[in-house]
Amino acid sequence: MSAAKNGNNIVPRAGIIGWPVDHSRSPLIHNAWLRQLDIGGYYDHCPIAPEADFRAALEAMARRGFIGANVTIPHKETAFQAMDYCDASARHLRAVNTICFRGGEIIGSNTDGAGFIASLTIAAEIAEETTNKVANKNIGWADKPVLVLGAGGAARAIVAALAEHGVPEIRLANRTRSKAEALSHLAPVGHIRIVDWVTRAPAGKDCGLLVNASSLGMRGHPPLDMPLDTLAPQALVSDIVYAPLQTPLLRAARAAGLWPVDGLGMLMHQAALSFQQWFGILPPVDNVLRHRLLADLEEA
Ligand code: NAP
Repeated sequence: MSAAKNGNNIVPRAGIIGWPVDHSRSPLIHNAWLRQLDIGGYYDHCPIAPEADFRAALEAMARRGFIGANVTIPHKETAFQAMDYCDASARHLRAVNTICFRGGEIIGSNTDGAGFIASLTIAAEIAEETTNKVANKNIGWADKPVLVLGAGGAARAIVAALAEHGVPEIRLANRTRSKAEALSHLAPVGHIRIVDWVTRAPAGKDCGLLVNASSLGMRGHPPLDMPLDTLAPQALVSDIVYAPLQTPLLRAARAAGLWPVDGLGMLMHQAALSFQQWFGILPPVDNVLRHRLLADLEEA
């Protein structure tokens, strides 16, 4: 279904909007799918400076033939304000990571939370398959409390998605407590318990899932100090930081016999859900793509 094969000259274009944006792996992911699925077209880095007129920049992209775009830091909230229409996912978060240019309108949605849950579900299935072979045990992370560390843009999408997924309790710890408190509205009343950053270790008691959604552990940032011994046996430990991919937290989880879930799953699944909106096909999130990303991260 490439443009050439279709017999029309419209080359589908999409891209990632951010500032700075050249570090983004999104072009690698989407261009791999465009080639693999023989769609043609390409996906670019699209830098937009924070002081630019965001809406005017989007309109210019639409005129240049873009069918869609992803949005990253620092524009997700600005993008929400600039849309003609937003779906429920973006309205709930008041942030947009996926834009569609359709029928003269600019439409926003947010695939971050759904991408996170997809990656977690697959990781849990793999863990369950492995465990069942050994001990016939159920991982059951979604039936237990979860502990989320961080209250930035990524944590916001993750907290909302976990609440929607129906986990019984979300414990939320952030260095700046007031920012965690500001996320309380993302779940039904009483569903989120804000805990002080310094009490994050005891707050992990009996949790079936720990998520590091802070920048700690990311290259250039201090490591995350988080003991894992209070978590439930067989807990999943998710670190959404992906540069580096194998963070000290994930290594500690493995050493403690817990299930590490790295940040590439979320990255690939949120991208797949955006791609589906633009091209109508849910692209494969497989080991070929994962290895391509790993090689690129190792080179960096
Ligand atoms: P953000 O909005 O800037 O939020 C950063 C968070 O980290 C805040 O909660 C901040 O706490 C906390 N933090 C920063 N330095 C800290 C420190 N020294 N001690 C304790 N907490 C600290 O960033 P974001 O967009 O949410 O991204 C967070 C991380 O997730 C980044 O590493 C990013 O690359 C990664 N990420 C991964 C994916 C994926 O697909 N895998 C997607 C999005 C983001 P304060 O509120 O106190 O400042």
